[in-house]
Amino acid sequence: NTQGALLKVSNLEGWYGESHVLHGINFDVRQGEVVTLLGRNGAGKTTTLKAIMGILGKRKGSVVFDGTELIKLPARAIARLGVGYVPEERGIFASLSVDENMMLPPQVKPGGMSVEQIFELFPNLKERRNSQGTKLSGGEQQMLAIGRILRTGAKMILMDEPTEGLAPVIVQQIGRTLEWLKRDGYTIVLVEQNFRFAASVADRHYVVDQGKVVDMIPNEDLEANMEKLHAYLGV
Ligand code: ATP
Repeated sequence: NTQGALLKVSNLEGWYGESHVLHGINFDVRQGEVVTLLGRNGAGKTTTLKAIMGILGKRKGSVVFDGTELIKLPARAIARLGVGYVPEERGIFASLSVDENMMLPPQVKPGGMSVEQIFELFPNLKERRNSQGTKLSGGEQQMLAIGRILRTGAKMILMDEPTEGLAPVIVQQIGRTLEWLKRDGYTIVLVEQNFRFAASVADRHYVVDQGKVVDMIPNEDLEANMEKLHAYLGV
């Protein structure tokens, strides 16, 4: 049932040059949901986020967000509609301070969080606001990467492995942030390798394998589907 879907991805295909990587991705996300894309390395999860965001060179199929077809739009138009992207590599500029990094993405939509609100959400970042990007821990960089997207006014956020390489206590903090965003009505599409984290924050999980979505598992059914999932993930 895709009625009321905020995001509906249908038969999405994608290429890097001649290399055909996405072979028909189908999934939908309701407003206020947190969904994950799970799958083994190279399955096409990151590429799916890039294709939705309009930063993959060649893509086809359909990506409807809030009633608008995105497939032919450039990334900046997609951002302006309220889609935010937090890439795996975080994109923090080493030579700029926290404050300066925060101001990099343009405000694309009214209703974004103010810098002070973002610092309320991430108090440790506030203490570091004059520090250079290079001086930040991995966790602080991740919080900055998420925080500055909240400033843009994006209401749906695509996040690529936000917990990668972070200490458990920081992973918990990121988890609390996602819960807060969900309560506030944000919609989140999360690529995640940390299974336990995925289970703790998501409503539903889509399994990506060889450039296709091959399964959907509601979070409450995750335990019961563990064997099947392990087979998909190859763990
Ligand atoms: P990972 O967790 O390893 O990032 P993933 O599911 O996100 O896994 P993708 O990064 O989407 O996988 O990669 C899908 C396929 O596309 C892989 O076969 C990968 O080798 C290939 N690929 C990824 N980036 C590029 C690129 N810039 N140029 C060419 N091929 C790429």
